[in-house]
Amino acid sequence: MSRHYAITTPIYYVNAEPHIGHTYTTVVADTLARYHRLAGEETFFLTGTDEHGDKIAEAAARDGLEPKAFTDRISGIFRDTWDEIGISYDRFIRTTDADHIRAVQTLLTRVHDQGDIDFREYEGLYCVGCERFLTDRDMVDGLCRDHERAPERRKESNYFFKMTRYFDWLGETLEAQPDLIRPERYRNEVLAMLREGSGLDDLCISRPKSRLTWGIELPFDADYVCYVWFDALINYLAGMGYPDDPAFEVRWAAAEHLVAKDILKPHGVFWPTMLRAAGLPLYQHLNVHGYWNVDDRKISKSLGNMISPLAMREQYGFDAFRYFLLRDMSFGLDASFTEEALVTRINADLANNLGNLVSRTLNMTARYCDGQVPEPDGAGAEEEHVRDASVEAARAVDEHMRRLEPNRALAAIFALVDATNRYVDARAPWKAAKDEARMGEVRTTLHTCCQALHSIALLLGPFVPDTAEEILARLGCSGALASARLPDTAAAFDAPAPGTSTRKGEALFPRVEAP
Ligand SMILES: [Zn+2]
Repeated sequence: MSRHYAITTPIYYVNAEPHIGHTYTTVVADTLARYHRLAGEETFFLTGTDEHGDKIAEAAARDGLEPKAFTDRISGIFRDTWDEIGISYDRFIRTTDADHIRAVQTLLTRVHDQGDIDFREYEGLYCVGCERFLTDRDMVDGLCRDHERAPERRKESNYFFKMTRYFDWLGETLEAQPDLIRPERYRNEVLAMLREGSGLDDLCISRPKSRLTWGIELPFDADYVCYVWFDALINYLAGMGYPDDPAFEVRWAAAEHLVAKDILKPHGVFWPTMLRAAGLPLYQHLNVHGYWNVDDRKISKSLGNMISPLAMREQYGFDAFRYFLLRDMSFGLDASFTEEALVTRINADLANNLGNLVSRTLNMTARYCDGQVPEPDGAGAEEEHVRDASVEAARAVDEHMRRLEPNRALAAIFALVDATNRYVDARAPWKAAKDEARMGEVRTTLHTCCQALHSIALLLGPFVPDTAEEILARLGCSGALASARLPDTAAAFDAPAPGTSTRKGEALFPRVEAP
């Protein structure tokens, strides 16, 4: 039976257009999905948009639109953007989709029936930005810590999910499965939230229709809609087929979540307790990454530093931007985007190291071997060394991808690029070719280079898919990614076969000037 793999991004809240933060999460998920497909695993990649709640209703009203018309538009922008930059999702879910609504109502009914939801009167300070009542810890000088606005005093009867009864279980689970939430710093943060309480209480999961109608109706009380977070988290189940698609069970049993650290609490505390209450197994891992700062500042609409993925594609090509995002953030930590840093990466790694290896290999193959992959004349220790580097790169990439370290996986591939460039420098086939008696050596060198380049392109496939396809096409191996099985095919070091026709081409990544 084949192995399964399922990866999710958060569903993006449709109050802003896609920026560098959304793009990073989505690109990492896409890279993981592509990697696991290449590893022969049955892969399911879920993304989408989160469309309910008062903030959306307010934003729609500001634009003079009905909420559904407003969310159709913004959700469409996300979907079109991901399509344009080649994100290989299997399902784009919207929380306004009929099957999502049914999944939410099914889960609510189940949790309600077993007595984990009750009805209480509550009076407190409510922040419209947060869409919830605040605790002392959420406020600084009487203002919401996140929104810097004064909360309103409200009294309401609402439904509460008895989340706190699962806190002991969750703490024990995090002790028993130390990498359930990774990297470790985020697991420790969740443990601290549970220990100190952090103002965490039973979770209010409803809004009276008298103040908000834009939401999913509670199946057990038609006067209320569901709180947006409770609704949104259930997309992960709905998107995989909950409650009754036969594919649901195997997908969910392989589920990996990818989120930025600002939504650790709902994914690290609310979600596992909800799953437990619903009698469902937990996700495999919650993988948490840091923030992108732009020019050393937090990104914000008002600063105008959101960084649009389509603008980056226009200016640098999307693979170059994608490479930068994956390479320059150590997964879990914050990272800094500047256009200077992007340009430096493009020139150093893509134009010089990789681009140079491609052009010198294919130019010399054209010049000395009629453009065909040459028949080698034996292989010595230096060739063995390049082959070993290829095996090691394939092994390291597999290890790092399974640990959610895409930056390290890329470093491992570029170690192979460097090893191959050093090999060419040492063999200097352009000198050897001046001596007819040394043409066997030239053929051996170029054969080794073509094979190394083939392995490099396969390994790069999940990270920079268009570039990988282009390298393979020039090597006469179009479509090789479709039949490759990583890490084995990349480590095999046995293609392209001698006699395969290759093609020179334009510079793979022309050098770019700093802006
Ligand atoms: Zn707030």
